Amino acid sequence: MFWKTDKKYFVISLFFLSFSLSGYSQEPKDTEDWSRKPETVTPGKKNKPPSDAIILFDGKDFSKWTSAKGEVQWKRKSGAMEVVKGAGSIKTKDGFGDIQLHIEWRTPKKVEGDGQGRGNSGIYLMGLYEVQVLDSWQNETYYNGQAASIYKQHIPLVNASLPPGKWQVYDILFKAPVFSEDHKLLSPGYVTVIQNGVLVQFHVELKGPTLYVGTPEYQYHEAKLPLMLQDHGNPVRYRNIWVRNIEL
Ligand code: MG
Repeated sequence: MFWKTDKKYFVISLFFLSFSLSGYSQEPKDTEDWSRKPETVTPGKKNKPPSDAIILFDGKDFSKWTSAKGEVQWKRKSGAMEVVKGAGSIKTKDGFGDIQLHIEWRTPKKVEGDGQGRGNSGIYLMGLYEVQVLDSWQNETYYNGQAASIYKQHIPLVNASLPPGKWQVYDILFKAPVFSEDHKLLSPGYVTVIQNGVLVQFHVELKGPTLYVGTPEYQYHEAKLPLMLQDHGNPVRYRNIWVRNIEL
C-alpha cells in the first residue's frame, strides 16, 4: 500500500523534474546575451574590402611594404604587383596576429618550368607560416607543396586552381600561435583557406614555421609579425590585398 502511494509520488515528482529540466521554468530573456554589441562593418562589394579592413595594396604604391634589401624592387603593373626575380621577398611594415586576409594572385600566363618551378610564390603568415602559391593547373608536384597547401604540412582538401594567367583569390583565416611569458607554446596556430570560393584548408594546425627541409618545430616569437610575400624567382602577381584584425 505504502509502496503504491510512494510510487505515485515518485512518478509525479519525476514528471515535474523533467519538466523543469527541459527548460520550461526559464524565461526566453534568461538566455539573451547583451554583453557585447557587435561593431557595425559595411561589407565590400565584389571582393572590395569591408569598411574596417586595412588596405595593404590597392595597386597604387608599396607604402605598406618593405624588403630586406630596403625599398621594394617589385614591379607595379596594371593595378597589381609582380615579383621580380632576385629582388627578394617583401613584407608588410606592420605586424599582424589573428587575421582575416584577402589576397588575389596570378601565375604567369606563359607556362615555364614545372613542379615547384612553375608560378611559385607564397604568402607567409607572420613571415613564418607559408600558404603556398603555385600554378597547380595540371602541374603535379608533392601534394603538400601544391597551391593552397600549408607548405610541407597540409595537403589542400581539393585542387581549386584556375588555369595559368587567371586571377585567383585566397581568403585566409589565421589564428596565431600563443606563447607564455616564459616562451612556452600555449596554443599552436590554425589556418583556414578558401580558394576561389572553395574551402581548401579547414582549421588545420600549424606544426611550426615552414621548412623546406626537416621537421618544423615552434620557436617563440612576438604576438604580431609582418606578413611576407615570397620571391621564388617566378613573376607571380598580387593585387587587392587587405586584412582585418580579428578580435578573438
Ligand atoms: Mg612558395
